[in-house]
Amino acid sequence: MSIATINPATGQLLKSFDPLPDNQVDAAIARAVDGFAALRRTTFAQRAGWLTRAADLLDAERDDIGRLMTTEMGKTYASAKAEAAKCAAACRFYAANAERFLADEPADAAAVGATKAYVRYQPLGPVLAVMPWNFPLWQVLRFAAPALMAGNVGLLKHASNVPQTALYLDELFRRAGFPAGSFQTLLIGSKTVDRILTDPRVRAATLTGSEGAGRAVGRTAGQELKKVVLELGGSDPFVVMPSADLDRAAETATTARCQNNGQSCIAAKRFIVHTDVYDAFAEAFVARMSALRVGDPMAADTDVGPLATEQGRADVEELVADAVAQGAWVPCGGQQPDEAGWWYPPTVVTELTPQMRMWSEEVFGPVAGLYRVSSYEEAIEVANGTSFGLGSNAWTRDPEEQERFATDLDAGSVFVNGMTTSFPELPFGGVKNSGHGRELSALGIREFCNIKTVWVG
Ligand code: NDP
Repeated sequence: MSIATINPATGQLLKSFDPLPDNQVDAAIARAVDGFAALRRTTFAQRAGWLTRAADLLDAERDDIGRLMTTEMGKTYASAKAEAAKCAAACRFYAANAERFLADEPADAAAVGATKAYVRYQPLGPVLAVMPWNFPLWQVLRFAAPALMAGNVGLLKHASNVPQTALYLDELFRRAGFPAGSFQTLLIGSKTVDRILTDPRVRAATLTGSEGAGRAVGRTAGQELKKVVLELGGSDPFVVMPSADLDRAAETATTARCQNNGQSCIAAKRFIVHTDVYDAFAEAFVARMSALRVGDPMAADTDVGPLATEQGRADVEELVADAVAQGAWVPCGGQQPDEAGWWYPPTVVTELTPQMRMWSEEVFGPVAGLYRVSSYEEAIEVANGTSFGLGSNAWTRDPEEQERFATDLDAGSVFVNGMTTSFPELPFGGVKNSGHGRELSALGIREFCNIKTVWVG
């Protein structure tokens, strides 16, 4: 994949970049080593000052960076600006809390025959971050804010279709005042990832992206015995039970499926509805999906912009065509318009069967699958019946049922009467093929720490 900005709304190539040659990659790793030596000696207060300055820059430059994200990957301008604001908030969260999250933790010294025993959290060193284009700022900040506060340094290999956002991030941390080498963007293709990960100076890796990319990086990290955090795909269930507030459920389902033009790993993708309320929910949901405005992502009244890449749209089309060929029904959407740009309309697909690829594969576009079930047990069986386990949603006003869903849904998160989202205060990540490890919260900042036991006799 060439490293280039191509506007998905027009298909026009705007700017392309040569990949960094190997000698410059090596030089960047050397700078990261020096950066680590400098950053790890700084205080939490200094790092918090720099990260707060990064937050201020993100706030001040929200319109410009928002426009850049929209141009590079097609998300609506409003959502791009909201993403920048969320990044600023996460920076402030870790600036305020990192010292507390990483404070020494005293243990019961007498129980281990010591005069003093405690756990100390220390940074690991240079961490490689392989990141996707769908939330081109947030995915990176979610890693970088805690990593930098812990004293780690970052090497970013961003997705090849968001190079200018990647370069903005490189400059952001430099301008914020972090020591040279603390955070660097490397404009490289995915084939160069192994070269970095096998370099002994690089201590760990994090990847957000597809299952295939996760397997590739996980395999190398395993061979190299390096810590790796993987945030991969998802096909989140959204279960609607008879006691649900159907209007709110249908409204939230529409947002959950079509946020970010349908390209979110934690988007609800499979809508599993109890037969008692199936027809009412389906009618309300299809009406809302049909009413969404598809168009220029820069326009204030647009709900859904284009998909980010031509290949991404082809993948979505293929999954819907496969379902239709095997008897699925499409009550709304399903036809891509014949115009420049990678548009795909909000689409609902019903009458799905396990033979159809959509049943088990992730659809990375605004396409919802509707499933009819006749009991709680069947809802759980369908919800858990995929290889993914990222987020999950359950709609019910029955307190007992809410607790059952919280226990029985096999996923990294369960949102009851709401849609999956991420908060700096709560851990984020998946189980099964959605990956392992956690980002955000106190758990996220500790992922790239040496959790050191100290025992004093
Ligand atoms: P990819 O996995 O292809 O790309 C993500 C990143 O990985 C990019 O930087 C890419 O580089 C890199 N990459 C791709 N293949 C390899 C490889 N073999 N070795 C090393 N690096 C590699 O993602 P897509 O563009 O296909 O994005 C969609 C998929 O990602 C969906 O399945 C989606 O669910 C998942 N995803 C998961 C998220 C999560 O938080 N769990 C968030 C966003 C997406 P390059 O661009 O140069 O190919």
